[in-house]
Amino acid sequence: MYKKYLKKIVFLAVLILPIVNAASTIFKSEFLNVPGGILLHEVSKNQYIHGIISNNKKILTIRKNDKFYLVYGIPYGIAGGPQSINISSLKSDKKISFIVKERVFKKQHITVSKKYTKPSDKNIARIIKERDIISSYRDTWSSNDPDMNFIYPVKGITTGIFGTERYYNGQKGRYHNGIDIAGNINDPIFAPSSGRIILTGDFFYNGKFVYIDHGKGLLSIFIHLNEITVKKGTYVNKGDVIGKIGVSGRSTGPHVHWSLTLNQNYIDPMVFLTINKNN
Ligand SMILES: [Zn+2]
Repeated sequence: MYKKYLKKIVFLAVLILPIVNAASTIFKSEFLNVPGGILLHEVSKNQYIHGIISNNKKILTIRKNDKFYLVYGIPYGIAGGPQSINISSLKSDKKISFIVKERVFKKQHITVSKKYTKPSDKNIARIIKERDIISSYRDTWSSNDPDMNFIYPVKGITTGIFGTERYYNGQKGRYHNGIDIAGNINDPIFAPSSGRIILTGDFFYNGKFVYIDHGKGLLSIFIHLNEITVKKGTYVNKGDVIGKIGVSGRSTGPHVHWSLTLNQNYIDPMVFLTINKNN
């Protein structure tokens, strides 16, 4: 009787262990296989060298302790349950299946100036133009491996988490695609990881913003700044000051909003703030 169960347990452990090992040594398990989280999958050295494409998008590949992995950013809107992605590398295709765990997101109500919930025609034209500019940078790719061991960009309290369903003046808006960290006006904002500044500007919703390419499709944007202290094209190291906290754009108080995209999907920045530091 017990032997039968023991056999089953050993068999299951053998099945599960390789996945748990790879995953638990790099990322926190709560961020694996969830909407706005990541899929981690071991790949060959050749696939790492030659690169991997999925759905016409280049995918982040990393090297850890002489093993190679793809790190795929799972879209927020994905349904729970069995899912798969097709990857291609070196002219061969492969399907990776995984189970998406459900993640419950809370609702959050926010009051903002009417200017932002009912923009004028002139502002609508501006919003469209600015949205297109931001979109044109989303597929930015540089071949360096990103430093995934992120630090907090601001020493403050997190007042908004990733994924909440947002209501602006009672009107349903988009989900919150990043995290908010509160601070005082002009508190410094640090680069959470090294990278190149690909764009800065002052847009209708974003206010003053800084957009950073960390490498291999991992990008950060910081919005609502009071001041931008870097220029487009500059390379910043982790911890360098990139700007100062403000209330510019659609902001309710002094804070920085930080969004992160991986393979062009919005990912919870907490994924990279909670990496196992022993790696
Ligand atoms: Zn925010």
